[in-house]
Amino acid sequence: MTSPALDALLALQGVDTDIDRHQYRREALPDRQEATEVDRRVAILDRDRGDIGVTLAEIVAREEALEADLAATEARIGEVNRRLYGGQVAASRELQAMAADVKVLEARQSDLEDRVLVILDEREPHDLRLAALGAERAGAEARRAELAVTIADAEAEIDTDLAALGDQRVALASEVPADLLATYERIRSRLGGVGVARLVGSQCQGCFLTLPSGEVDRLRHLPADAVVTCEDCGRILVVG
Ligand SMILES: [Zn+2]
Repeated sequence: MTSPALDALLALQGVDTDIDRHQYRREALPDRQEATEVDRRVAILDRDRGDIGVTLAEIVAREEALEADLAATEARIGEVNRRLYGGQVAASRELQAMAADVKVLEARQSDLEDRVLVILDEREPHDLRLAALGAERAGAEARRAELAVTIADAEAEIDTDLAALGDQRVALASEVPADLLATYERIRSRLGGVGVARLVGSQCQGCFLTLPSGEVDRLRHLPADAVVTCEDCGRILVVG
């Protein structure tokens, strides 16, 4: 025979252990761990994309400068050609000078075109890498969104259980005297969540050590409502 207070305390321990298990499961959801990994990967992808963006901006600036130069050269060729073939210049020396200018300008145009092609070659792998990183990031974001849903679902399910367990806890705690409850809470917080255990045979179910037979005998002859603790682990021991 045990006292109703100790029976309620044992039941409370059962509920508290269940609450702890639920809270641990809530924290350790495998999807939550995967979500952390996905977040870490996205951060790395963003850093790499940023680095490539800096490299590309420098290449694009050189490319644009060359293209502006090329456009100006082409405009100048068009201008000189219009005057050359416009029929308004008759002096042959002037016409020869203009034709020579066009040759120089065309050589410059050809050189600029070659240099633009070299830059486009230089740029291509960076463009491809940026696109690949962007695609990987989009995949990671999609997975992250899926995980947010499955995590929220799992949390909601666990929280429903925790709410019911919380109600049970309040009801059971009201059946335990305040000083015994305080002792239980103190031991429980110190000893990994277990504050009270049964004595089964001569073994404490809190630490699983066997008590000396003389001690067991002494405990068994105490009044049912006596509050005793295991001499090994210090937990409240329910005898009976
Ligand atoms: Zn013990």
